[in-house]
Amino acid sequence: MLVVDKGKSVGGRLASRSFESAIFDYGAQFMTAREPTFLEQVNTWIAEGTAELWFRGHPGRSENHKRWRGIPNMRELANSLVGSLNINTARQVLKIAVQQDQWKVEFKDGSLMHANNVLLTPPVPQSIEIIDRGDTKLSQNQRRRLQKLTYDPCIAVMAVLEEPSKIPSPGMLVPDHDDIDWISDNMKKGVSKLPSVTIHASSDFSETHFNADRNEVGTKIINLSKSWLGAPVKHFAIHRWRYSKPRCVDAERFMLIQHNPTLMIAGDAFAGPRVEGAFLSGSTAAEALMAHIENY
Ligand SMILES: Cc1cc2nc3c(=O)[nH]c(=O)nc-3n(C[C@H](O)[C@H](O)[C@H](O)COP(=O)(O)OP(=O)(O)OC[C@H]3O[C@@H](n4cnc5c(N)ncnc54)[C@H](O)[C@@H]3O)c2cc1C
Repeated sequence: MLVVDKGKSVGGRLASRSFESAIFDYGAQFMTAREPTFLEQVNTWIAEGTAELWFRGHPGRSENHKRWRGIPNMRELANSLVGSLNINTARQVLKIAVQQDQWKVEFKDGSLMHANNVLLTPPVPQSIEIIDRGDTKLSQNQRRRLQKLTYDPCIAVMAVLEEPSKIPSPGMLVPDHDDIDWISDNMKKGVSKLPSVTIHASSDFSETHFNADRNEVGTKIINLSKSWLGAPVKHFAIHRWRYSKPRCVDAERFMLIQHNPTLMIAGDAFAGPRVEGAFLSGSTAAEALMAHIENY
């Protein structure tokens, strides 16, 4: 089995990076576990020191879910799953097409590979592009279901501060503001040694400003957040998530496009717009694929 990812490292939206010597979680900020299967995985991460409880509940909501964070950061959760898997990073799939009862996988760098079974887990619009470029026919029903799975964008600002922010412990804030959804203090969270914050703009703001100049949109988001930060910004960078969270979720945990050669699609749009949804969809699809291979 081979896992291919276009990113420089695994993790996708479980994203963490350094910038100007500070460290940022700039995609998913925490995970919740509503189903026993995922809770088991969270407990494994806790036992191996890769996750810990960050806080409980959510400002403005009545629920009291536990919210865990990755240690030292969110990307580490994905890294810890790599184990002995054969993984190619920085390798982008361009298209897939059936050729002599196998999938011919074509990469952006021009290289080719053949596979009996393919499981696609990019955000659904990107999976559709990969399939369409290879002229694989989706049934009307499959295309209709897949096209319903649209996503909210999110512009994330990573800002290094001159001094610690005034965001209270445990380092998260949900401002009552139309344009700003979330602010994390990466230092209070335990991710960064230097004072730094991650600011997530709202989906409406992100949609309107998605293609705006990086510097202008970053400055705008920082100005909107100034009163909560309480410390001057030294440096900032932005990341544009075109596909941040699915707006709706398919009724099935994954989609079987066809058998022999087999093609499946999975990801958070099939089990919930969260880390847990991605895990449940991916693991259910993988189990179904393994069962099919054994019985074939
Ligand atoms: C800003 C933001 C905040 C969030 N906050 C939270 C939160 O606090 N809690 C929570 O539970 N969830 C949160 N989420 C959602 C959560 O991150 C996702 O639901 C989950 O990580 C999705 O996982 P996935 O595997 O389905 O997709 P992804 O993580 O998007 O993985 C898809 C992978 O496919 C790769 N890929 C794409 N196209 C190609 C290609 N052509 N060739 C090769 N590889 C390709 C990508 O590089 C990526 O690694 C947040 C997401 C964002 C963006």
